[in-house]
Amino acid sequence: MSKREFQTEVSQLLQLIIHSLYSHPEIFLRELVSNSSDALDKLRHLTLTEDAYKALPFEPRIDLELDEEKQTLTIADTGIGMNEEDLVSNLGTIARSGTKTFLAQLSGDEKRDSNLIGQFGVGFYSVFMVASSVEVTSRKAGEEKAWRWTSDGSTGFEIEPAERAVAGTTVLIHFNEEGKQYANGWRLQEVVKKYSNHIAFPIFLTYDKSEWNEAEKKSIKTRVTEQVNAASALWRRPKSELTDEDYKELYKSISGDWEDPLFWFHTKAEGSLEYTTLFYIPSKAPLDLYQAEYKVGIKLYVKRVFIMDDAKELLPQYLRFVRGIIDSEDLPLNVSREILQQNRVLTSIRTASVKKILSELKNVAANEPEKYLKFIAEFNRPLKEGLYGDFANRETLLDLVRFKSTKVEGLTSLADVKSRMKEGQKSIYYITGGAESLLRTSPLLEIYKKKEIEVLILDDDIDEIVFSGVDKYGEIDLKAVNKAATGEDLKDEAEKDQTEALKPLLEKLKATLGDRVKDVRASVRLADSPSCIVSDEEEPSMQMQQMLRAMGQENVPAPKPTLEINPDHEIVKKLLVRHDDAVSEDAAWLLLDQALLMEGVPLQDPATFVQRLNRMMNLSI
Ligand code: ADP
Repeated sequence: MSKREFQTEVSQLLQLIIHSLYSHPEIFLRELVSNSSDALDKLRHLTLTEDAYKALPFEPRIDLELDEEKQTLTIADTGIGMNEEDLVSNLGTIARSGTKTFLAQLSGDEKRDSNLIGQFGVGFYSVFMVASSVEVTSRKAGEEKAWRWTSDGSTGFEIEPAERAVAGTTVLIHFNEEGKQYANGWRLQEVVKKYSNHIAFPIFLTYDKSEWNEAEKKSIKTRVTEQVNAASALWRRPKSELTDEDYKELYKSISGDWEDPLFWFHTKAEGSLEYTTLFYIPSKAPLDLYQAEYKVGIKLYVKRVFIMDDAKELLPQYLRFVRGIIDSEDLPLNVSREILQQNRVLTSIRTASVKKILSELKNVAANEPEKYLKFIAEFNRPLKEGLYGDFANRETLLDLVRFKSTKVEGLTSLADVKSRMKEGQKSIYYITGGAESLLRTSPLLEIYKKKEIEVLILDDDIDEIVFSGVDKYGEIDLKAVNKAATGEDLKDEAEKDQTEALKPLLEKLKATLGDRVKDVRASVRLADSPSCIVSDEEEPSMQMQQMLRAMGQENVPAPKPTLEINPDHEIVKKLLVRHDDAVSEDAAWLLLDQALLMEGVPLQDPATFVQRLNRMMNLSI
């Protein structure tokens, strides 16, 4: 027998599980049953597609056997099984990216962390919440030898040769104090029904059943084996037969989420292609939503046979938070990942599924606005990613995304913004590039405030990238207020153009500021501030340039800002008539620096800025 050590991460996780995370110990059973179900799925798939496996016997089932006296439970399956190597790498290391993410999210606050384990599930290791020791005996399909893996969940594990009549895996649990509550047939049935009722394979429970015996006037225990779960592919049953509870339970068993889903869409398509889809929207964004290695939430079935659950092709990336099932009648069972990528059937299913999900979301938005806001609180951002990538559905996505705005509290839709447009207003305006508070106080908004035109506050860091590519909502132009070209809606202001009158001052400013600015112009967009900076239509804004640099892009072109000054402002009027001197030079620089500051752009030379400011203060005090 060889003693081996756990990978460091496993030890860490086990310490946590054993010492602090006891809030939902019953999930151990959900995790083990779902492992068995996955193992059965895998073997069934092989027996249907691979010649070498076709002749193997396959009687899929999961057996739970309770020994109340010994305080043990076994969970046995006739699935794919594991050989020595598999046991070491699957149960001795953390292979799953999800579990790594889990570890990374731990806060050290026990209560929060134990909720996290509930939402997350940490797979096999959760068994150590209820076990003092565990034996896993397994034989891999197609192999003769069996192996036994034993561990008390503290330092390491042992592996030795063993016997097993058929391929599959048996997990033997010796219950600890915490686990004793599960050494009870009734309790086990309850937990299986709760989490695993719709696992597609039969789950049997063997236990001592107490029944009242009328003749002897006492309850008598008999050893029985009963099927505990419904074992139906729930998604293939008509909606009318299914209750909300059925849907929620299936969701929890496929997603590993602890909370109920926010809503779900169940569709059966008939016609040239036949398939069933059941999509769920989680109530909380998955923890790995913004990680490159996110876990795919969609399981692909062909004629009720599980095919794979890690295919990123099934839905576009921006819908990676959706959980659920696609079950097709038309795909071949042996469909491989390479084939999936250009498979016509799958492409049609995918296109229709995206349309379905988006149109259902639209229904929710229209009919259950409060629920929709909960959805938006979690998933507004992925929808925006969709605006960037999913051209075909852009119009729908524009209706689904929500925005902050200068006109309303909370969030608003473009449709509502449109309905609030002023008579004759041609475009919808937005401001990007910075935190909400910065954007709301930007001098660029002054003219819109004055004219009572609504402006959307796009303060998400992806907004500028996304919306620079979206120039229309229906027939209406979408325009950024920090771009130099002003919209038609400011035309009357533009007519008041005072460039001629300001010309001498503009020239002076240009001469003073030199190559720090691209141009100096008379502004038509300012009301209260003396100056502001704007970017050219095709150029990234100043904040965007900063962001690109912060992200490590070194050769971001550094286009210079254009300074605009407010002809109606006292300072500007005074400067216009003032002769050149040190004061007007300081003023020129301060006009530029304050405009940069208001846009959240850090000053190149704060010391000089402060000196200038002090000189000015000195004059006025
Ligand atoms: P997950 O199931 O989420 O991948 P687990 O920690 O539960 O994570 O299991 C780790 C791996 O061990 C599984 O991916 C699977 O390869 C293997 N495994 C676990 N239980 C079984 C089983 N009953 N039969 C075959 N393989 C199993």
